[in-house]
Amino acid sequence: MSQTIAFIGAGNMSAAIIGGLVQQGVDPKSIIASNRSTGKLEALASKYGIRITPDNREAAQADVVVLSVKPQMMKAVCQDLKPVMPHNPLIVTVAAGIDVASYEAWLGADKAIVRCMPNTPSLVGMGASGLFANANVSAAQRVSVDGIMSAVGITAWVEQESLINAVIAVSGSGPAYYFLMMESMIDAGIAQGLSRETAKALTFQTVAGAAKLAAGADVEVDELRRRVMSPGGTTEQAVQSFESDNIREIFSRAMTRCANRAVEMA
Ligand code: NAD
Repeated sequence: MSQTIAFIGAGNMSAAIIGGLVQQGVDPKSIIASNRSTGKLEALASKYGIRITPDNREAAQADVVVLSVKPQMMKAVCQDLKPVMPHNPLIVTVAAGIDVASYEAWLGADKAIVRCMPNTPSLVGMGASGLFANANVSAAQRVSVDGIMSAVGITAWVEQESLINAVIAVSGSGPAYYFLMMESMIDAGIAQGLSRETAKALTFQTVAGAAKLAAGADVEVDELRRRVMSPGGTTEQAVQSFESDNIREIFSRAMTRCANRAVEMA
Protein backbone atom coordinates (compact mmCIF):
# COMPACT_ATOMS: atom_id res chain seq x y z
CA MET A 1 0.00 0.00 0.00
CA SER A 2 1.62 3.27 -1.03
CA GLN A 3 -0.80 5.53 0.84
CA THR A 4 0.10 6.90 4.25
CA ILE A 5 -2.35 6.35 7.12
CA ALA A 6 -2.52 8.46 10.28
CA PHE A 7 -4.21 7.50 13.53
CA ILE A 8 -5.21 10.46 15.69
CA GLY A 9 -5.60 9.03 19.21
CA ALA A 10 -3.53 5.93 19.83
CA GLY A 11 -5.81 4.01 22.19
CA ASN A 12 -7.31 0.53 22.04
CA MET A 13 -9.09 0.83 18.71
CA SER A 14 -6.13 2.39 16.90
CA ALA A 15 -3.76 -0.20 18.37
CA ALA A 16 -6.02 -3.01 17.15
CA ILE A 17 -6.25 -1.62 13.59
CA ILE A 18 -2.52 -0.84 13.42
CA GLY A 19 -1.71 -4.36 14.64
CA GLY A 20 -4.00 -5.85 11.97
CA LEU A 21 -2.53 -3.71 9.19
CA VAL A 22 1.07 -4.57 10.07
CA GLN A 23 0.16 -8.25 10.35
CA GLN A 24 -1.30 -8.03 6.84
CA GLY A 25 2.00 -6.78 5.51
CA VAL A 26 1.34 -3.01 5.37
CA ASP A 27 4.68 -1.17 5.61
CA PRO A 28 4.83 0.17 9.21
CA LYS A 29 6.61 3.27 7.93
CA SER A 30 3.45 4.20 6.00
CA ILE A 31 1.60 4.40 9.34
CA ILE A 32 1.87 7.32 11.75
CA ALA A 33 0.08 7.70 15.07
CA SER A 34 -0.36 10.72 17.30
CA ASN A 35 -1.60 10.85 20.86
CA ARG A 36 -1.89 13.35 23.66
CA SER A 37 0.44 11.36 25.92
CA THR A 38 3.57 9.60 24.66
CA GLY A 39 3.54 6.26 26.55
CA LYS A 40 1.08 4.54 24.19
CA LEU A 41 2.89 5.93 21.15
CA GLU A 42 6.24 4.58 22.26
CA ALA A 43 4.71 1.17 22.93
CA LEU A 44 3.20 1.11 19.41
CA ALA A 45 6.47 2.23 17.82
CA SER A 46 8.48 -0.45 19.55
CA LYS A 47 5.91 -3.20 18.90
CA TYR A 48 5.14 -2.43 15.25
CA GLY A 49 7.85 -0.06 14.01
CA ILE A 50 5.35 2.65 13.02
CA ARG A 51 6.13 6.37 13.00
CA ILE A 52 4.83 8.40 15.95
CA THR A 53 4.38 12.03 16.87
CA PRO A 54 2.82 13.90 19.79
CA ASP A 55 1.50 16.42 17.22
CA ASN A 56 -1.90 15.63 15.66
CA ARG A 57 -1.29 18.25 12.98
CA GLU A 58 1.88 16.54 11.83
CA ALA A 59 0.17 13.15 11.65
CA ALA A 60 -2.76 14.61 9.73
CA GLN A 61 -0.53 15.24 6.68
CA ALA A 62 -1.20 11.59 5.69
CA ASP A 63 -3.42 10.44 2.79
CA VAL A 64 -5.91 8.80 5.16
CA VAL A 65 -6.60 10.22 8.62
CA VAL A 66 -8.32 7.89 11.09
CA LEU A 67 -9.91 9.85 13.93
CA SER A 68 -9.93 7.62 17.01
CA VAL A 69 -10.23 9.85 20.05
CA LYS A 70 -13.21 9.60 22.41
CA PRO A 71 -16.36 11.29 21.07
CA GLN A 72 -16.23 14.13 23.61
CA MET A 73 -12.76 15.11 22.35
CA MET A 74 -13.67 14.97 18.67
CA LYS A 75 -14.89 18.52 18.05
CA ALA A 76 -11.76 20.12 19.52
CA VAL A 77 -9.47 17.70 17.65
CA CYS A 78 -11.22 18.40 14.31
CA GLN A 79 -11.22 22.15 14.78
CA ASP A 80 -7.51 22.02 15.52
CA LEU A 81 -6.86 19.95 12.36
CA LYS A 82 -9.03 21.90 9.94
CA PRO A 83 -6.41 24.54 8.99
CA VAL A 84 -3.75 21.89 8.23
CA MET A 85 -5.79 19.83 5.80
CA PRO A 86 -5.66 21.66 2.46
CA HIS A 87 -4.38 18.37 0.96
CA ASN A 88 -7.91 17.01 1.57
CA PRO A 89 -7.13 13.61 3.09
CA LEU A 90 -9.71 10.88 3.37
CA ILE A 91 -11.15 11.12 6.89
CA VAL A 92 -12.25 7.95 8.66
CA THR A 93 -13.89 8.30 12.04
CA VAL A 94 -14.51 5.42 14.42
CA ALA A 95 -16.14 7.54 17.13
CA ALA A 96 -19.58 6.47 18.30
CA GLY A 97 -22.55 8.80 18.09
CA ILE A 98 -21.29 11.67 15.90
CA ASP A 99 -22.94 12.18 12.51
CA VAL A 100 -21.21 13.10 9.27
CA ALA A 101 -22.83 16.57 9.25
CA SER A 102 -20.92 17.40 12.46
CA TYR A 103 -17.59 16.45 10.86
CA GLU A 104 -18.49 18.46 7.76
CA ALA A 105 -19.21 21.45 10.00
CA TRP A 106 -15.92 21.04 11.92
CA LEU A 107 -13.63 20.10 8.99
CA GLY A 108 -15.31 21.53 5.89
CA ALA A 109 -18.13 20.35 3.63
CA ASP A 110 -15.62 19.45 0.89
CA LYS A 111 -14.03 16.67 2.96
CA ALA A 112 -14.32 12.98 2.08
CA ILE A 113 -15.59 11.41 5.30
CA VAL A 114 -16.31 7.81 6.20
CA ARG A 115 -18.13 7.12 9.42
CA CYS A 116 -17.26 3.73 10.81
CA MET A 117 -18.99 1.84 13.60
CA PRO A 118 -16.62 -0.90 14.77
CA ASN A 119 -17.19 -3.21 17.73
CA THR A 120 -15.02 -4.53 20.55
CA PRO A 121 -14.16 -7.92 18.96
CA SER A 122 -12.05 -5.76 16.60
CA LEU A 123 -9.55 -5.88 19.45
CA VAL A 124 -9.02 -9.59 18.68
CA GLY A 125 -9.31 -9.34 14.90
CA MET A 126 -12.94 -10.54 14.86
CA GLY A 127 -14.67 -7.19 14.49
CA ALA A 128 -17.72 -6.27 12.45
CA SER A 129 -17.71 -2.67 11.23
CA GLY A 130 -20.55 -0.77 9.59
CA LEU A 131 -19.40 1.97 7.20
CA PHE A 132 -21.10 5.02 5.71
CA ALA A 133 -19.45 7.39 3.23
CA ASN A 134 -20.45 10.96 2.41
CA ALA A 135 -20.85 12.01 -1.22
CA ASN A 136 -17.24 13.24 -1.46
CA VAL A 137 -15.78 9.75 -0.99
CA SER A 138 -14.62 8.15 -4.24
CA ALA A 139 -14.90 4.47 -5.16
CA ALA A 140 -11.13 4.11 -4.75
CA GLN A 141 -11.33 5.68 -1.28
CA ARG A 142 -14.05 3.21 -0.29
CA VAL A 143 -11.74 0.37 -1.28
CA SER A 144 -9.01 1.96 0.80
CA VAL A 145 -11.19 2.23 3.94
CA ASP A 146 -12.47 -1.28 3.41
CA GLY A 147 -8.87 -2.49 3.38
CA ILE A 148 -8.09 -0.66 6.61
CA MET A 149 -11.12 -1.86 8.58
CA SER A 150 -10.82 -5.39 7.16
CA ALA A 151 -7.55 -5.61 9.10
CA VAL A 152 -9.66 -6.15 12.24
CA GLY A 153 -12.63 -8.09 10.89
CA ILE A 154 -15.46 -7.84 8.38
CA THR A 155 -17.01 -4.69 6.93
CA ALA A 156 -20.54 -3.83 5.77
CA TRP A 157 -21.41 -0.61 3.92
CA VAL A 158 -24.74 1.15 4.41
CA GLU A 159 -25.98 3.71 1.91
CA GLN A 160 -28.08 5.77 4.33
CA GLU A 161 -26.50 7.23 7.41
CA SER A 162 -29.58 6.41 9.51
CA LEU A 163 -28.78 2.72 9.00
CA ILE A 164 -25.70 3.15 11.18
CA ASN A 165 -28.21 3.05 14.06
CA ALA A 166 -29.29 -0.41 12.95
CA VAL A 167 -25.62 -1.41 12.71
CA ILE A 168 -25.19 -0.22 16.30
CA ALA A 169 -28.20 -2.34 17.35
CA VAL A 170 -26.82 -5.45 15.64
CA SER A 171 -23.03 -5.43 15.81
CA GLY A 172 -21.99 -2.32 17.76
CA SER A 173 -23.85 -3.28 20.92
CA GLY A 174 -24.27 -6.94 19.94
CA PRO A 175 -21.21 -8.26 21.80
CA ALA A 176 -22.88 -7.22 25.07
CA TYR A 177 -25.99 -9.29 24.25
CA TYR A 178 -23.79 -12.34 23.83
CA PHE A 179 -21.84 -11.57 27.00
CA LEU A 180 -25.17 -11.42 28.85
CA MET A 181 -26.23 -14.73 27.32
CA MET A 182 -22.89 -16.25 28.24
CA GLU A 183 -23.24 -15.02 31.83
CA SER A 184 -26.68 -16.64 31.96
CA MET A 185 -25.45 -19.92 30.48
CA ILE A 186 -22.46 -20.07 32.82
CA ASP A 187 -24.66 -19.40 35.87
CA ALA A 188 -27.20 -22.00 34.77
CA GLY A 189 -24.43 -24.55 34.14
CA ILE A 190 -23.01 -23.90 37.61
CA ALA A 191 -26.51 -24.27 39.11
CA GLN A 192 -26.65 -27.71 37.46
CA GLY A 193 -23.39 -28.74 39.14
CA LEU A 194 -20.55 -27.78 36.75
CA SER A 195 -17.49 -25.96 38.04
CA ARG A 196 -17.23 -22.32 36.94
CA GLU A 197 -14.15 -23.19 34.91
CA THR A 198 -15.91 -25.98 33.02
CA ALA A 199 -19.12 -23.98 32.51
CA LYS A 200 -17.08 -21.07 31.09
CA ALA A 201 -14.97 -23.24 28.76
CA LEU A 202 -18.00 -25.06 27.39
CA THR A 203 -19.97 -21.83 26.95
CA PHE A 204 -17.21 -19.91 25.14
CA GLN A 205 -16.48 -22.77 22.76
CA THR A 206 -20.19 -23.30 22.09
CA VAL A 207 -20.78 -19.64 21.21
CA ALA A 208 -17.68 -19.47 18.98
CA GLY A 209 -18.49 -22.84 17.39
CA ALA A 210 -22.12 -21.94 16.68
CA ALA A 211 -21.05 -18.65 15.07
CA LYS A 212 -18.45 -20.41 12.91
CA LEU A 213 -20.92 -23.08 11.86
CA ALA A 214 -23.56 -20.46 10.97
CA ALA A 215 -21.13 -18.24 9.04
CA GLY A 216 -19.91 -21.15 6.93
CA ALA A 217 -23.23 -22.93 6.41
CA ASP A 218 -25.08 -23.15 3.10
CA VAL A 219 -28.43 -23.21 4.94
CA GLU A 220 -30.21 -20.56 7.02
CA VAL A 221 -29.70 -20.31 10.77
CA ASP A 222 -33.19 -21.64 11.55
CA GLU A 223 -32.32 -24.84 9.68
CA LEU A 224 -29.13 -25.23 11.74
CA ARG A 225 -31.24 -24.82 14.86
CA ARG A 226 -33.70 -27.48 13.68
CA ARG A 227 -30.81 -29.86 13.03
CA VAL A 228 -29.84 -29.69 16.71
CA MET A 229 -33.45 -30.18 17.80
CA SER A 230 -34.45 -33.83 17.47
CA PRO A 231 -38.20 -34.24 17.95
CA GLY A 232 -38.92 -35.11 21.55
CA GLY A 233 -35.27 -34.42 22.47
CA THR A 234 -33.46 -32.25 24.96
CA THR A 235 -32.77 -29.16 22.80
CA GLU A 236 -36.43 -28.99 21.80
CA GLN A 237 -37.34 -28.54 25.47
CA ALA A 238 -34.94 -25.61 25.84
CA VAL A 239 -35.93 -23.93 22.57
CA GLN A 240 -39.66 -24.29 23.30
CA SER A 241 -39.02 -22.68 26.67
CA PHE A 242 -37.24 -19.71 24.99
CA GLU A 243 -40.01 -19.39 22.40
CA SER A 244 -42.78 -19.44 24.99
CA ASP A 245 -40.87 -16.69 26.82
CA ASN A 246 -40.96 -14.69 23.55
CA ILE A 247 -37.24 -14.54 22.90
CA ARG A 248 -37.74 -12.99 19.46
CA GLU A 249 -39.83 -10.18 20.89
CA ILE A 250 -37.28 -9.70 23.67
CA PHE A 251 -34.53 -9.15 21.05
CA SER A 252 -36.70 -6.96 18.88
CA ARG A 253 -37.65 -4.72 21.82
CA ALA A 254 -34.09 -4.49 23.13
CA MET A 255 -32.63 -3.67 19.72
CA THR A 256 -35.31 -1.04 19.06
CA ARG A 257 -34.42 0.64 22.34
CA CYS A 258 -30.73 0.48 21.37
CA ALA A 259 -31.30 2.08 17.95
CA ASN A 260 -33.61 4.74 19.42
CA ARG A 261 -30.91 5.68 21.91
CA ALA A 262 -28.39 5.96 19.07
CA VAL A 263 -30.75 8.42 17.33
CA GLU A 264 -31.07 10.48 20.52
CA MET A 265 -27.28 10.58 21.01
CA ALA A 266 -26.32 11.54 17.42
P1 NAD B 1 -9.03 5.00 24.12
O1 NAD B 1 -9.36 5.86 25.29
O2 NAD B 1 -8.32 3.72 24.34
O3 NAD B 1 -8.18 5.85 23.06
C1 NAD B 1 -8.34 7.22 22.84
C2 NAD B 1 -6.93 7.83 22.79
O4 NAD B 1 -7.03 9.19 22.39
C3 NAD B 1 -6.21 7.82 24.14
O5 NAD B 1 -4.94 7.19 23.99
C4 NAD B 1 -6.05 9.30 24.48
O6 NAD B 1 -4.83 9.59 25.16
C5 NAD B 1 -6.04 9.92 23.12
N1 NAD B 1 -6.44 11.33 23.08
C6 NAD B 1 -7.36 11.97 23.83
N2 NAD B 1 -7.42 13.27 23.47
C7 NAD B 1 -6.54 13.44 22.45
C8 NAD B 1 -6.15 14.55 21.67
N3 NAD B 1 -6.70 15.75 21.84
N4 NAD B 1 -5.23 14.34 20.71
C9 NAD B 1 -4.66 13.12 20.52
N5 NAD B 1 -4.98 12.04 21.26
C10 NAD B 1 -5.90 12.20 22.20
O7 NAD B 1 -10.40 4.78 23.34
P2 NAD B 1 -10.75 3.64 22.24
O8 NAD B 1 -11.47 2.53 22.90
O9 NAD B 1 -9.56 3.36 21.39
O10 NAD B 1 -11.85 4.45 21.40
C11 NAD B 1 -11.47 5.35 20.39
C12 NAD B 1 -12.70 5.67 19.56
O11 NAD B 1 -13.20 4.45 19.01
C13 NAD B 1 -13.82 6.29 20.37
O12 NAD B 1 -14.34 7.40 19.67
C14 NAD B 1 -14.86 5.19 20.50
O13 NAD B 1 -16.18 5.72 20.46
C15 NAD B 1 -14.58 4.38 19.23
N6 NAD B 1 -15.00 2.98 19.35
C16 NAD B 1 -14.29 2.13 20.13
C17 NAD B 1 -14.68 0.81 20.23
C18 NAD B 1 -13.86 -0.16 21.04
O14 NAD B 1 -14.13 -1.34 20.92
N7 NAD B 1 -12.87 0.24 21.82
C19 NAD B 1 -15.83 0.35 19.58
C20 NAD B 1 -16.55 1.25 18.80
C21 NAD B 1 -16.12 2.57 18.69
